[in-house]
Amino acid sequence: MAGSDAMTAADQLIATSPVTDRVNLLGLTRQQLETFFTDLGEKRFRAQQVMKWIHHRGVRDFEEMTDLSQSLRTQLGEIAEITPPNIAEQHDSQDGTRKWAIAVEGGSLVEAVLIPEGDRATLCVSSQVGCSLDCTFCSTGKQGFQRDLTAAEVIGQVWLAINSYDAWQSGKGRVVTNVVMMGMGEPLLNFDNVVSAMSLMCDDLAYGLSKRKVTLSTSGVVPNLDRLAEWADVSLAVSLHAPNDALRDQIVPINRKYPIARLLASARAYLDAQTDKKRVVTIEYTLLAGVNDSVEQARELAALLKDYPCKINLIPFNDFPNSGYQRPSGNAVSRFWQVLTDAGFVVTVRTTRGDDIDAACGQLVGEVVDRTRRAERHRAGRGDHSLLESGR
Ligand code: SAH
Ligand code: SF4
Repeated sequence: MAGSDAMTAADQLIATSPVTDRVNLLGLTRQQLETFFTDLGEKRFRAQQVMKWIHHRGVRDFEEMTDLSQSLRTQLGEIAEITPPNIAEQHDSQDGTRKWAIAVEGGSLVEAVLIPEGDRATLCVSSQVGCSLDCTFCSTGKQGFQRDLTAAEVIGQVWLAINSYDAWQSGKGRVVTNVVMMGMGEPLLNFDNVVSAMSLMCDDLAYGLSKRKVTLSTSGVVPNLDRLAEWADVSLAVSLHAPNDALRDQIVPINRKYPIARLLASARAYLDAQTDKKRVVTIEYTLLAGVNDSVEQARELAALLKDYPCKINLIPFNDFPNSGYQRPSGNAVSRFWQVLTDAGFVVTVRTTRGDDIDAACGQLVGEVVDRTRRAERHRAGRGDHSLLESGR
């Protein structure tokens, strides 16, 4: 899709997004929808019927819900709606990765990425527009915080991903098998909406994913992690990125408030509260050349995580314009991996997927916003050609 055409389309979508005072049923959990129907004087099982129409069949028009009475369909059409966010751009990578820039109400963009791998397909979902936590190597953090996504906007990313493959109509089976809350934003800072959306991801009447296949990733909002087990039992990933507080204080600023020992203790307590005792925390570690990727730091990390119930996921830094960081060499990644593996850890290295479409945290949105600014400058007659030509 050509950049300028795409922005025109996005602008139109944003401009025409309807703002209504109807209840958006897309983001309601089973319990909330049951309450909605009993408040209308209807039976609770109406909620189950409507959930299946929305989440199993992708239906948005109440008139198509043929197992509801005509009078209920008419009433729903007056007071409710099923409104997913709009796709502003869709990009397909040569390796099968698909990425969306999604226009949400208020004129902002968030992103979602679907990464197929064999018989799995992992959808990476955003939880906020921007992020307030400002990790120094993160493109989303650099965009600042705008607002929380609603539950409908979070689950709407799953709805849109499935819809984009026409999977409901074609009966093509499961388009999304795993969901990771690793797109834009800090999920634990949008607690209620994220918990609602995750409950729909796991609900048989919605997406029916096993709780092991839904992963919440946090950079360490400890008070909310402390209460997560009361509300959810999904898998947990902790974004550590440093083996000690001195370094983590610098690159993950929330560490100054909630240091490593508190974070790891809170994550362990979350695991301990689960009925499945075999579960572990995924420790995410973004490798930044010359910052946290030395052999000594790998040893320090091994010592820190000794006897901790975890697996480690190494993420070579994904570069973006003016990041100030570099991706380490393949050798540096291998050396780091080797030290941890020799120490007995299960260690994976995240392979880069969708490189040709910038399929990394916050990057497509960064690009689209950048193109808009360039177009604005151009329209204003201040055409900055160095920027125009630097588009990747
Ligand atoms: N806010 C949450 C989830 C979103 S970020 C969190 O921080 O965990 C998802 C993961 O991508 C995090 O581990 C984050 O540190 C990592 N990440 C962010 N920017 C990155 C980049 N440029 N390169 C590699 N990993 C990055
Ligand atoms: Fe926010 Fe996560 Fe990015 Fe940190 S890494 S700024 S917490 S989105």
